[in-house]
Amino acid sequence: MTTTLIRNATIFDGTGADTFTGDVLVTGNRITSVVAGDSGATADTVIDGTGKFLMPGMVEGHAHLSFDAFTCTEDLIAPPPEEHAFLTARVAQTLLEHGFTSAYGASEAKLRLGVAVRNEVDAGRLPGPRIRAGSLEITVTGGLGDESRLHNPRNCYEPSTGTSPSQVVNGPEEMRKAVRIACREGCDNIKLDVSGDPFYPDIPAHCTTMSLEEIQMAVDTAHAFGKMVNVHARSIGAIRNSLIAGVDMIYHAEYSDEETLDMLEAAKDRVFVAPTIGLFHTMWHEGAPHGMPREVTEAMGIGHLIEESVKTHTELRKRGIRHLIGGDYGFTWNMQGTQARELQYFVDYYGYSPAEALVCATRNGGLAMRREGDLGTLAEGMLADMLLVDGDPLADLALLTERERIVMIMKDGDIYRGAP
Ligand SMILES: [Zn+2]
Repeated sequence: MTTTLIRNATIFDGTGADTFTGDVLVTGNRITSVVAGDSGATADTVIDGTGKFLMPGMVEGHAHLSFDAFTCTEDLIAPPPEEHAFLTARVAQTLLEHGFTSAYGASEAKLRLGVAVRNEVDAGRLPGPRIRAGSLEITVTGGLGDESRLHNPRNCYEPSTGTSPSQVVNGPEEMRKAVRIACREGCDNIKLDVSGDPFYPDIPAHCTTMSLEEIQMAVDTAHAFGKMVNVHARSIGAIRNSLIAGVDMIYHAEYSDEETLDMLEAAKDRVFVAPTIGLFHTMWHEGAPHGMPREVTEAMGIGHLIEESVKTHTELRKRGIRHLIGGDYGFTWNMQGTQARELQYFVDYYGYSPAEALVCATRNGGLAMRREGDLGTLAEGMLADMLLVDGDPLADLALLTERERIVMIMKDGDIYRGAP
């Protein structure tokens, strides 16, 4: 097996511990030693890390690999599957280029886009991060993503009537079938739209649209197949029912009350949470050139949702919830490749220290990606995904948004960029 030594780097191991100067040795696709000071090791490839910052690769916790510079749901539907697969492959490469060595798939615009690209990346035929492939969004009649109307029925599983960005189900039996199809087709993560959303005026974010029975069926079916379940859950009812049903990943979670916070805390060792603040931050502060001036985002309630997000996730940080960065990148105002901006949002909005924000991006993400627990930190036996950064991200997290500052990207022991 080939060996790679990164020597004399400032090592941030992903646990939140203080950095130290030392050597990391990689054998094959695993880290075989992390040593403070000079290890004296030799290797087939030696990279001088002097003055540079070595950290685990980052994990995008809510990836939509099939979204790229989109502006509306029609953009999800319009591309034919062939072109859409190429687009998805390009986005996967973009993420890797920007230091994201893993992408936890939230959902994709067509059922097999994440699956197909994951398979090509895993086979070494396309550049991209490790991917847990997301399913389609599964929703209920009248829920987020159901854009059919009586005069124009559209459901992505009814080809004769066109397509919809989401698969619409009603009742546990239809849910069972939808989840089994997603499992059969190779998805790793099943996505449920449990609450409303500010993009849908008839079902605002505080609405809970999917029933507990439907969520429970999805969880039981997905878990029987060894898959994970992610939920779009902005409302209190959505968060509570999702926790009762035993979902694995909760997205957004703006609204909360004391009981909901207690429930989240009680589940903190089995559930992950991604606030996905980037979408609303960019809509609120940078939306005007994209057709969303402040009057529009004000009317959508975005400012209020940001306030609720700050309240909930600041409290969840204090309670030790495993937060992940990322989410809903792929729109013109929130572009793919800019996900590392999320690190500073975690500091500014939720009170994380820079080191803690990096833990969310590395260790927490790695745990969500692999239940084996062997991804996301730099330690003996861990998978060798890491970044060498020119500069100190702990002093300036924005460095990680600059592609050229990430001077080496290693995934699974292979140097993707920055070989000496
Ligand atoms: Zn999303």
